[in-house]
Parts: sequence; C-alpha cells; structure tokens
Amino acid sequence: MSNYNRVFNFSAGPSMLPLEVIEKVAKDLPNYNGTGQSVMEMSHRSKEYQQIIDDAEANLRTLMNIPDNYKVLFLQGGGTLQFSMVPINLLRNSKKADYIVTGQWAKKAAEEATKFGDIKVVASSEEATYTYIPKVGKEDFRPDADYVYICTNNTVFGSHYPYLPETGDIPLVADMSSSILSEEVDVEKYGLIWAGAQKNVAPAGVTIAIIREDLIGHAPKETPIYLDYKTHADNGSMYNTPPCFSIYVAGEVFKYLLANGGIKAIHEYDVKKATLLYDYIDGSGFYKAPVNKEDRSIMNAVFVTGDEALDKEFIAKAREEGLINLAGHRALGGMRASLYNAVPLEGVEALIDFMERFKNQHK
Ligand SMILES: *Cc1c(COP(=O)(O)O)cnc(C)c1O
Repeated sequence: MSNYNRVFNFSAGPSMLPLEVIEKVAKDLPNYNGTGQSVMEMSHRSKEYQQIIDDAEANLRTLMNIPDNYKVLFLQGGGTLQFSMVPINLLRNSKKADYIVTGQWAKKAAEEATKFGDIKVVASSEEATYTYIPKVGKEDFRPDADYVYICTNNTVFGSHYPYLPETGDIPLVADMSSSILSEEVDVEKYGLIWAGAQKNVAPAGVTIAIIREDLIGHAPKETPIYLDYKTHADNGSMYNTPPCFSIYVAGEVFKYLLANGGIKAIHEYDVKKATLLYDYIDGSGFYKAPVNKEDRSIMNAVFVTGDEALDKEFIAKAREEGLINLAGHRALGGMRASLYNAVPLEGVEALIDFMERFKNQHK
C-alpha cells in the first residue's frame, strides 16, 4: 500500500482521517455501491442515501452505547452554532445556566449564552491561562439552573476533565468536539453531548448532537426553525438537505472504528501516543508542557521551549520534515501536537525523534 507521500499532520482541526477510510471513499467515489454516482451527487431523499445516514446513526449508537431515549442529530453550523442552539433550546424554565470556563471555546459558549438568559460562570481557570481544570461539585451550581455546561477537552490549551462534575438532576451539557470517540463516555450522565466533526470524526460540515428526548421541544415559539432541535429530531436530521458527504465519511469512520475494537481499543492507542509524547517532554529538560499533569489532554498536547523565537524555528524546521501544523493556537503561541485517533503512533515517534535532534542543536 502506498503512503502517497502523506505528511504527519498534527492539526487541531480539520485533521487527519484514517487512511483506510480515505482510500475506501476514494475507491467508491465515482460509483458508490453500484448506483452509478458518487455520494456527492446523490439525492438526500434517495433510498441509498437514507441507508447511509441510517447506518451512520446506528453505528454511532453502537460505538458510544447511546440509550434509546436519546436522539442523534446531524446538524450544520459548526460547533459555533451550538453556542447559540444550546441556550435557545435548553433555557426552558428558570432561564438560568451555569458554565465552567476551562478554555476559549467554553468562554465563547458562555458569552453567547448571555444573550438568552441568566448565565453564571461558576468556575474558571482563565487566571492561570487555563492550565488546569477547576474542581467543581453540586454545591457550586444554582439548584434551579436549567443546565450546566462544560467543554470536556480544551482544544486550544490542551486540557481535559479528569472527572465529571456532579450536577444531580440538572442536565449536563458537554462540548466534546475534540474528544468524542477518543474515550468511552457514559451518555446517560449527560443531557446533551455535541461535537463538531472536523476534529476527530469526519471532514468539516457536520456537527453531531446526542440529546435526551425530554430536553427537546422547549425552544421559544419565535425560534428560527433550523435552530430548534425538535425540527431535526422530528425529521431524522433531514428537515432540509443535510451535509450529505460529511455524514457519509463520518459513517465510514464509525465502521472503521467498530471493525478495529471500538472506542476501548482506540482509547488505549491514544493514551499510548500521548504518554509517549508527554513522558518525552517531561524528561527532556528542554521542552515544557504547561498543563497540570492530571488534567492533560490525550488529544491536544501543548508545549513550549520557553523562547518564542525558538518555538517559531521549531515549527518551521518540523514542517520541512513533513511534521506539519505544530504551531499552537494563534491566541497562545508555542506548540501544539494534536494526536487525534487517526494520527499514527509512527507520527508521534517521528515527532519525538525530531524533538530530540532539535534539542541537541539548541540546548
Ligand atoms: C473547534 C472547536 C469548536 C468550534 O468549532 P467550529 O466548528 O469551528 O465552530 C468548539 N468547541 C471545541 C472544543 C472545538 O475544538
């Protein structure tokens, strides 16, 4: 099998997809399953496409063990539209919601939500540049809050919740854009899980929402029809034309994961990759990972040399070796290696090999 001169791409998103999936999609592109057309050209009302979306949903349900009283929705508008859809739909009683701000995406979500209700930031790690996850418990939330909001994996700062906040009867809403399918989650602990696909699932264009049925149907009357979860739940994510191709590729990724041991197996692989990199960084005496050890993300590893000019040189030199997209988020600087499911162990090994040589030239 050719490697097509592919690079190791550490992008935070859009990001690497499994090569097997890319090859399968490429092979099936001109004539999908004997239909004489590609999925890009196919009517979303055709029985062939209905099968594709039904299989995608069924396979995601199997992968994540999603209970029957949850709807799976395939939406557009990216993660960003969920910052608005969540409060519009879920501020259904007191119009109060409590947010834990552990990074730029949670902060944006909280800011957007203030347009729609009484939003309280119950904890934040902003004062420490989001290098840790605050410990929050039931006593920290307003008892009449309509929901509690978290971002499980902080893509920009490279942190991840080492625990799940106890919210009692208050529905927990989680942005899992950069950690979905990298670890087993107990869906029942959440009222709503949502994730933009372009980090760990599929090409950009589809956002997955997994929502408990009793939380659907409470949006105010004047809510634009597209922004009401009920519209999508009642129409099997086909009220209007869905992002057909992204859903199709997501479905192929789900099949690929199921055929390779499911989330348990990919999680072990992800932990192995991340541990290799963090252990190297911690022992290097040259690079530093600023995030609290127990709160580190296995998906996005943030590190620095401590010298901005050297960081820039690192990123440029790595690129020359086919190790691309290692620059930290434009808000943060430094380096970030995103190690999503499809980033191979060999990529991490090549990165560490480069890091060691770079260190020896510059220490
Ligand atoms: C990328 C990202 C978003 C924003 O997604 P868009 O699709 O670009 O709007 C939100 N939350 C998290 C955790 C992300 O990583």
